[in-house]
Amino acid sequence: MARQIKSPDIEKNNFKTPYFSILGVLFIVILFTALWRPLNLDRTVYVPLTPQVEITVNNNSHSLADDGRVEMVNGKTATVAESSDVPEDEIVKDELDDIVDDKDNSVQYTIVRGDTLHDILIRYNVNRNDIYQLTTKFKQLANLRIGQQISWTTDDNHNLQTFSWTISSNNIRIYEKSGDKFVESSETAEVVPQDIVIKGDIKTNFVADARKSGLTSNEIGIITRALQWRLDFRRLQVGDKFSVVLTREMHGKTLSNSQLLGVRVKNGTKDYYAILADDGKYYDINGSSLSQSFFRYPLAKKARVSSGFNPRRLHPVTGQIAPHNGVDFAVSRGTPVLSVGNGEVVIAKYSGSAGNYIAIRHGRQYMTTYMHLDKILVKPGQQVKQGDKIGLSGNTGRSTGPHLHFELHINNKPVNPLTASLPISEGLTGKSKKAFLAKVKSVGSQLNF
Ligand SMILES: [Zn+2]
Repeated sequence: MARQIKSPDIEKNNFKTPYFSILGVLFIVILFTALWRPLNLDRTVYVPLTPQVEITVNNNSHSLADDGRVEMVNGKTATVAESSDVPEDEIVKDELDDIVDDKDNSVQYTIVRGDTLHDILIRYNVNRNDIYQLTTKFKQLANLRIGQQISWTTDDNHNLQTFSWTISSNNIRIYEKSGDKFVESSETAEVVPQDIVIKGDIKTNFVADARKSGLTSNEIGIITRALQWRLDFRRLQVGDKFSVVLTREMHGKTLSNSQLLGVRVKNGTKDYYAILADDGKYYDINGSSLSQSFFRYPLAKKARVSSGFNPRRLHPVTGQIAPHNGVDFAVSRGTPVLSVGNGEVVIAKYSGSAGNYIAIRHGRQYMTTYMHLDKILVKPGQQVKQGDKIGLSGNTGRSTGPHLHFELHINNKPVNPLTASLPISEGLTGKSKKAFLAKVKSVGSQLNF
């Protein structure tokens, strides 16, 4: 027994020296690797001599100079696509999009419940620094009231040029950019509001015929947004009709503001109405909401968020800014993925780094995307309802583990789906419904053909 205990001790002593030298070598190897890795990382970050890296640096400094307004990556910035979930396809746009996008750089907007100036301007992609300048210098802009109109113009780089706030028809505040600051002035001249009824027939398509009838791009945009959940304007056919009641305010000969009081569109035998209520929103003639609601999550159960929405995410390896335009949910492979709202599937295919990828269009302003799916269960062009199972989550494309990458775009700009303000589909009740139905009578009677 004693011998047996002793012998391992002796053995240990015998092996002490080689054992330690092995340890020593191991230690040096580990030390070397530990020192070597950061050196390697430093190199990829700091050697800006290859053209590819130089392009990356330029792109990023450009994004930062724009004060964080990181655009939805469109596949041209290859360096970003390397490190984030960016599909290679772009959604095909049509003429209505251009109007909804306000390509002519001037927007009129009616304040609705829950709006803040900051959020509205962010939604329309206005330069953040301009928003900051305007809202911090003029605190009174926090007092926007429901139903009031604001309008603004931007240059092609989204820089705010002028902003106007119609407090009442003869009290308009104007904020004009001079240098990089805004200067306030006010117009108190009498403005004459005119009630106008415009009618038209569909001869080619709604946008062209509405323009011909005298409606402005902005007014057409308001009509298509108001009815976006009920009517697909692309389906209107020759012989269909529309009728619009507006109040336009004229400053001399120029149109300063217009308010759409009601619209009726006849599609075949069906009539679609949108009538403005006192809360600044549009309802159908029964006071029911024209918007539809969204789920916050495209999943049946709440799941852990493994990576949040972050337009300035730093890539862990390259140290470069690689916007994360969506939210990652940690879900195991095969988890059912649900459409967050009613809509039309516009993309359903395998697409490079996005893997199996679905894009759904909801109305005209909203789009959601679902990436890295294991299986796609829908086809392009298919109509889906809120809660429909559209796919199974997976780990396809450039993905380091099973998860669902989910994006929400409002007016073609990615926003945080967990915090974005989404339309609420609540109808009118009580007193506000009574007041609304009285309006329906007076406005509706003018909406004949
Ligand atoms: Zn992601």
